[in-house]
Amino acid sequence: MSGVGLEKEPAPEGVAAAPALLELRDLRVCYGAIEALKGISLTVGEGEVVALLGANGAGKSTTLKAASGMLAPRSGHVLLRGERVDGIKSHELVRFGIGHVPEGRRVFPRMSVLENLRMGAYRLRRPDPDDLERVFTLFPVLAKRRKQISGTLSGGEQQMLAIGRALMGKPELLLLDEPSMGLAPLIVQQIFEILKEINAQGTTLLLVEQNAAQALQLADRGYVLETGAVVMSDEASALLSDPRVRAAYLGEVAEAE
Ligand code: ATP
Repeated sequence: MSGVGLEKEPAPEGVAAAPALLELRDLRVCYGAIEALKGISLTVGEGEVVALLGANGAGKSTTLKAASGMLAPRSGHVLLRGERVDGIKSHELVRFGIGHVPEGRRVFPRMSVLENLRMGAYRLRRPDPDDLERVFTLFPVLAKRRKQISGTLSGGEQQMLAIGRALMGKPELLLLDEPSMGLAPLIVQQIFEILKEINAQGTTLLLVEQNAAQALQLADRGYVLETGAVVMSDEASALLSDPRVRAAYLGEVAEAE
């Protein structure tokens, strides 16, 4: 890919000059002949929680994978604080402050909780011992189970471990793919409380969720994706009360016009 990495890009018209923490500009991503993202543009401001909503196959996971360097865009740009990072591989982007908690909480099942957490910090030039304490304070159950083999944890504990491991990379921006998937409502509640705390401590969040109500209650703003394109974007409270969003993603029956 040409022109990759850390070039200053002029902001297009109508976009604030101050760089967002993350900006996706007209991003196209293809799997072979399948165009999964058809020119997605979105911004995530510093300190924000932004939710990405949409049906199965809308392109939410692909958006996160393109933002974290797991997938290279066919065209368009990924900017972090106004600097291009598309084309930089995901393991390198950890150093740039992007953490990714992928769908399906991929912890290393044969490693202990502690070993998994240490893996999260291995790309850092100077791992900070306080980070482990921070993770254990956010997730006391991980401290209790630090020597346990991760594959034997419950689903909720594995999700906590996946988030904790990403935090060990000291992300400024945490990308979360379906953190509530397959978990009991009480555990989902607990995880969202912790995400709120992580955000309050200064980490910006971009969150993909099927659980739209939960996501929009946490989020400042949201984007709705359909077949690889953004079809709505607004304040989370406005999306929560929008009848189209309520009908499509909150399981409500739309009223007749
Ligand atoms: P889900 O909630 O089901 O994961 P999503 O909104 O995250 O949905 P993506 O996983 O990003 O959607 O998929 C977007 C499109 O790309 C879909 O049409 C999907 O079938 C296709 N796709 C995703 N991954 C691949 C792949 N590895 N190879 C080919 N097509 C893919």
